[in-house]
Amino acid sequence: MFDFLFAKKEYLSCEWLEYGILFNYDGIFHCCEFIHGKNYIPVAEVNLNNDYNFKTFFKEKEKARKNIRKGIIPKRCIGCNKPKIGVWNKKLQIKNIAISSVAKCNCDCIYCPNHRIRKQVNNIKDVPVYNFLKNCIDKKLISPDCHIEWGGGEPTIADEFDKISYLLLNNHLIGDFGVHSSGIKYSEVLVKYIKEWSKKEYRSVMDNSKKSHGIIISVDCGSRELYKQIKSFDNFDKVWDNIARYCEAQADYQSDVKVKYIVIPNLNDSIEEFEKFLKKAIESKVKWVIIDIENQWFNKNIHNEEKLKHYIVIIKNMEKLCKKYGLKQTYYSSFCYLIDKYHNFYDSI
Ligand code: SF4
Ligand code: SF4
Repeated sequence: MFDFLFAKKEYLSCEWLEYGILFNYDGIFHCCEFIHGKNYIPVAEVNLNNDYNFKTFFKEKEKARKNIRKGIIPKRCIGCNKPKIGVWNKKLQIKNIAISSVAKCNCDCIYCPNHRIRKQVNNIKDVPVYNFLKNCIDKKLISPDCHIEWGGGEPTIADEFDKISYLLLNNHLIGDFGVHSSGIKYSEVLVKYIKEWSKKEYRSVMDNSKKSHGIIISVDCGSRELYKQIKSFDNFDKVWDNIARYCEAQADYQSDVKVKYIVIPNLNDSIEEFEKFLKKAIESKVKWVIIDIENQWFNKNIHNEEKLKHYIVIIKNMEKLCKKYGLKQTYYSSFCYLIDKYHNFYDSI
């Protein structure tokens, strides 16, 4: 009779706002979503000791969660496709972590937000996150099924890469986990992840075709010339060799090493280039390909239906080619947003 008193209230919110944290090299943020033409939601800047202010983080997180329970949505969330009506835990647990605390990179992609300031950015010190993570693990603040994405700069050259990796490995936090690497540096620690993922406990998440986990390397082309144009350096052979070595380390599953193709309009958007890329992937024993559309172009053209639909057709043809070659294929954030928005059109092609 009094069930209604105990029923949990549903409300509009999102996984990141409720449970997420992005460690960026210039501050902490609620989320790492960038796909709706706006910026991440800042929580606190990196302080003068090159550290994050976690007191502020938890205070702001609780404030944002309280507000959203009252229906107050942060301005920057308006237009994002992530919020959904649901029942959300009142107790704060961290279930989404994005690590981008390192700015430096051993590559220089033309689409990187830091491309024009690469030299300066490569001098920015990494912000340490190990102590915070360890603290949260010790206090059981991180959910065992936490989703973790480790991205750029380049994780494998981060000062704390090994230390954090072993912390995650030893605490079984690598089940819902992706590392985005340029593939230029061969890393034994990445091999350690690959070996660990072969355990039964990780397979259902790792093989989930809706998720893009494992080691993700964006090569974006199948020819050396284009590689140099996109990445600024000639590491074409080195990267494909490293991909082949990682694939060799995989168990029978062969799905933990994924190569990504970011479609850059007017540069690598031909089906011929994509086919060359697929052939290199197959030669390296890759089984899973991820496709996305370049983010800066996407943000500029977010309201240009004609252009967006043009690229939906191109990318759908790329998807068909993956099928023809027997490769698993998924999409990444910006293109997922497009499919969401134009699902009837996408289905009709
Ligand atoms: S609604 Fe979108 S922008 Fe807002 S916190 Fe969630 S993912 Fe980030
Ligand atoms: S690999 Fe990532 S971080 Fe490095 S230059 Fe390319 S986009 Fe930027």
